[in-house]
Amino acid sequence: MNVYTAILSAPVRLLSVILVMTYIQIGQAGDYDGDRAYQFLVDQTNFGPRAPGSAGHAACLEYLVQKLENADAVVSRQPFMHYDSETGQTITMTNIIGSFYPDKLNRIMLCAHWDTRPFADQDRIGNRNKPILGANDGASGVAALLELALYLRLKEPPVGIDIIFFDGEDSGKEGDLDSYCLGSRYFTQNNPGIYPRFAILLDMIGDAQLQIAKEGYSLHYAPDLVERVWKAAENTGTYSFLQETGHPVFDDHVVLNEAGIPAIDIIDFEYPDATHRYWHTLEDTADKCSPGSLQAVGNVLVEFLYNLEP
Ligand code: ZN
Repeated sequence: MNVYTAILSAPVRLLSVILVMTYIQIGQAGDYDGDRAYQFLVDQTNFGPRAPGSAGHAACLEYLVQKLENADAVVSRQPFMHYDSETGQTITMTNIIGSFYPDKLNRIMLCAHWDTRPFADQDRIGNRNKPILGANDGASGVAALLELALYLRLKEPPVGIDIIFFDGEDSGKEGDLDSYCLGSRYFTQNNPGIYPRFAILLDMIGDAQLQIAKEGYSLHYAPDLVERVWKAAENTGTYSFLQETGHPVFDDHVVLNEAGIPAIDIIDFEYPDATHRYWHTLEDTADKCSPGSLQAVGNVLVEFLYNLEP
């Protein structure tokens, strides 16, 4: 450094200190809290596997209802029965609906599945009949939305919002798509009066190595919505939303789209990366997820939702 730049750099340094302080202050005022979102993820995994019919599933149902009520949502349960032809059992499943600002007519749906897969069929042979913990595949999307619920309670958004936790997304048999997404199918066939402009589904967004490509079905059904959400992501400065097309992943958003609700899936299917796979294995545990990833997605949701037209 020569004398000339030293003289110039003093005010520049001061300015950058002020900017950093301003940024921190803005960042603290009732903000979306990725650490708390991560705690909601851990809370769910502490119930154990949440496959429909299990004790963990029953306990987690009450937990989720309570969390939404704590955020002042109008909460309702949509129970339904599912007959599993393979086991001969009938299991009760429940969609959970939390409505925020129910008087607003202009509404958006945010959703995730809260059930976990009953069998780790992508694991090694000895583990394939065991239920997964679903830290990422299940709990992460729910956790991000529980934290958003607290944010919505404190700061009124320009639109009404319905958060829906679908049950029975992940009980399907490999190769039989009709056996997946039971909750969203039941919801669309027995709609309790929720007609959003569009829906955003969150699934597998907790991966500590978060890299979210634009999911194939989302680009097919609702390309404009994908671009608007990715634009919001760009505004937040995150590097986790990629300008790439990802795999098409059959998920609840396909069911919503087929029922006439434009819907996209924010999903990082490569968990943790293109060469390793925790998906549908016993390795899908909370330590593979991170508060920073939930924070990144939460920031994008806040940026997107609070800039919508009323
Ligand atoms: Zn799954």
